[in-house]
Amino acid sequence: TPRVFSGIQPSGGLTLGNYLGAIKRFVAMQDDGIETLYCMVDLHAITVPQSPADLRHNTRELAAGYIAAGLDPAKSMLFNQSQVPEHAQLGWIFNCVARMGWMQRMTQWKDKAGKNQQNASLGLFAYPSLMAADILIYHTTHVPVGEDQKQHIELTRDIAAKFNHDYGVDFFPMTEPVIEGSATRVMSLRDGSKKMSKSDPSDMSRINMTDTADDIAKKIRKAKTDPDPLPASLDDLADRPEARNLINIYAALEGSDAQTVLTQFEGQQFGTFKPQLSDLAVAKLGPIGAEMERLMQHTDEIDKILASGAERARAIAEPILAKTYQIVGMVR
Ligand code: ATP
Ligand code: MG
Repeated sequence: TPRVFSGIQPSGGLTLGNYLGAIKRFVAMQDDGIETLYCMVDLHAITVPQSPADLRHNTRELAAGYIAAGLDPAKSMLFNQSQVPEHAQLGWIFNCVARMGWMQRMTQWKDKAGKNQQNASLGLFAYPSLMAADILIYHTTHVPVGEDQKQHIELTRDIAAKFNHDYGVDFFPMTEPVIEGSATRVMSLRDGSKKMSKSDPSDMSRINMTDTADDIAKKIRKAKTDPDPLPASLDDLADRPEARNLINIYAALEGSDAQTVLTQFEGQQFGTFKPQLSDLAVAKLGPIGAEMERLMQHTDEIDKILASGAERARAIAEPILAKTYQIVGMVR
């Protein structure tokens, strides 16, 4: 049976990008006949500094976001990464399989380490190796992610192939990325060349799932655009990244596609389009944000859900780690 794994870092509040690029699609894959595991990857979050109180809060709020968006803890295993120690244990093995040069090529490493790479954490450098372990510790077949994670999934396949080759086994599968829909890369509202991120220093660059209706309207009103009206065809948006981004967001929220949205709004100015985008965003996100707030009144229940999800996930991970140790030659 297909097995789906994906994760989100509790490195801040959930954004519209995380919702459209990841969570909404996690929900769509939660179906009979598919085993689904969705993780709050807290070990990844600490590759950059996090205050312990914020990390705890963000982990629970992320769980609330998963549930509020429609993930059912009875159907999907919801858990935080550090409660399944096999992730980190396999991650170490993969640190010894992966090559420094592979990590050096990763665009996320280059973006997040910035100019002063010597001062970045070793964990940030090794991030893709732990991510490969997150995926392969379950022999995952499919990983729904946003476009920005494509390179890391390709690296996961490289690590699986090198392990299999080095040890002469056919053990780890070639996992498929699932990157689809009109919002695989939601861009910053302030800069059409940067992706929307929960760790961006500017709150105006993103819509948070817990933003009020007023916040959402203000951020969309102030979103960077150009002075031209909306064109009839998608091709005419090629050089207008900010305009394209807002159209893609509208399409993804509505569940249609960018061309359908353009056909509807052709010839209109942003002054007319933006309020309609705000209304749609508030209608779709408002109920999720409200449910997240309600769930956060009961963090003890969230903790129970995570503990039980972790226990079910461990039942899959344990035998795969044991077999890996046996292949590598660890005495038991
Ligand atoms: P950070 O800034 O801390 O890296 P992030 O917003 O990039 O946070 P991640 O936890 O790194 O979020 O990624 C979680 C999931 O959300 C991944 O599947 C990623 O591809 C997806 N994702 C993140 N940002 C976007 C975006 N702007 N558009 C579409 N998908 C996104
Ligand atoms: Mg990210």
